[in-house]
Amino acid sequence: MSLNHAIALASILGDESRVLTHPQVVERLSRDFYWYSPVLRKRLDGKVGDLVVQPVSTHEVQSVLRYCHVQNLPVTARGAGTGNYGQAVPLQGGVVLDLAHMDQIEAIQPDGVAVCQPGVRLGTIETEARKTGWELRCYPSTIVKASVGGFLGGGSGGIGSVAHGGLRDFNTVRALEVVTMEAEPQVVRHEGEAVHQILHAWGTNGVITRIWLALAPAVEWSQCVVAFDHFDGAFDFSEGISTSDSWIKRLVTTFEWPIPSFFTPVKQYAPQGKSLIFFLISSDQLVALEAAAREAQGEVTYSGSYAGLRTIPLLSDYTWNHTTLWALKTDPAYTYLQCGFDPVTVRDQMRQLRERFGQEILFHMEFMKNGSGQVIPGAIPLVYYTTEERLNEMISFCREIGVFVANPHVNNVEGGGRYRADNVQLLAKMRNDPKGLLNPGKMITFHPEEVAATGTTTR
Ligand code: FAD
Repeated sequence: MSLNHAIALASILGDESRVLTHPQVVERLSRDFYWYSPVLRKRLDGKVGDLVVQPVSTHEVQSVLRYCHVQNLPVTARGAGTGNYGQAVPLQGGVVLDLAHMDQIEAIQPDGVAVCQPGVRLGTIETEARKTGWELRCYPSTIVKASVGGFLGGGSGGIGSVAHGGLRDFNTVRALEVVTMEAEPQVVRHEGEAVHQILHAWGTNGVITRIWLALAPAVEWSQCVVAFDHFDGAFDFSEGISTSDSWIKRLVTTFEWPIPSFFTPVKQYAPQGKSLIFFLISSDQLVALEAAAREAQGEVTYSGSYAGLRTIPLLSDYTWNHTTLWALKTDPAYTYLQCGFDPVTVRDQMRQLRERFGQEILFHMEFMKNGSGQVIPGAIPLVYYTTEERLNEMISFCREIGVFVANPHVNNVEGGGRYRADNVQLLAKMRNDPKGLLNPGKMITFHPEEVAATGTTTR
């Protein structure tokens, strides 16, 4: 069966080298980083596509989708496969649509908008943009590998979000084009508010083939590490820098001990028992930041200029969800949550979590601007996993005390906490993919029977 499809798709592309059927290759390209979650590991291990197709143009994407529509073949779009929730893992086999070969930057426009294909790596956009005085507004810590299409399909924010908000804020995604899954696949352009129909929909309602991404004016950055005897001092200092408009920053990450002990390559900057803050700060303000840190009883354990993604050490490699990776290397029992604390009651919320869960939760804070322009204490705390029940108890407790949780242990758009209450992603799916062939099983409100089974209420 797969062989017939492979032959047909190779003939459609006119290139059999871009239709991959070797089981090990198909398996590798069917996986992402879902194994960060012990819950998802159980559910997704062993899920694979039947074959991989690698288009190089929008026209080829249309041709592949046309064929799959006729054949009722599921199609799961894939960027670099660095997602954390099994977003790119095909649940029902079919075609893995690997967009890595659509990797052209068409333009870095003079008005600071990058126009690109979906498979371009974010690191490439950053490097190219800087040549003309621009840089990414925000990017995940996987910037070197992750694709821009995958970031739009499954990511949320990261380095830069403390100044520019998340990917979905402040009109950062100016416009995009998607190919629909219909008998005659259309290329549909979305701009302004309409981009939200497609963003973070996990490739369930269209295949993104072209993106207009707003950039920020480039800044000369420096890196800095500050250690504090106690987490409270580190938190207060990082909060002050994050929330004050006078500091030009790209990253403010705060870790309580023992998290810094997991960062083996930079352990010389992590004094035993101390909490750390990692900064990317405007080079013009580095000296002032160091002085402010000392005045607040902090110890500057490292500072140096930042010369792009090859800088060693690259502090961002220890932040955002890379922190969890370092913890997992130390002890595979660690997993994580994605939280938004209340800027006013954050200290009390952290106290309550510590009282209830002790060292089962370790605080890793990521300050970020929300869509209203307020800088809030986001967090990707480490969780020492014992059972799914205990994890769910922690999530429920967070919500009870007013901590927002985007649950990274579920494998559907709605359950992850970033589904839009206005249902625009679902409405787009109904229009663009009436047969439900795009990444099936990931948008559960499209299948009312599954909603009933899981008790999800999003409509
Ligand atoms: P993939 O994993 O390939 O795809 C992600 C989703 O988008 C899938 O559902 C896929 O089907 C869909 N998709 C891919 N391409 C398209 C397309 N062209 N059209 C439609 N849908 C498409 N995320 C953050 O937001 N911030 C972080 O700081 C961050 N840090 C991370 C750190 C680590 C160590 C890891 C493992 C992950 C991290 N992530 C983070 C998650 C992930 O790296 C990012 O979201 C990244 O942008 C995903 O890009 P990708 O190319 O790997 O996408």
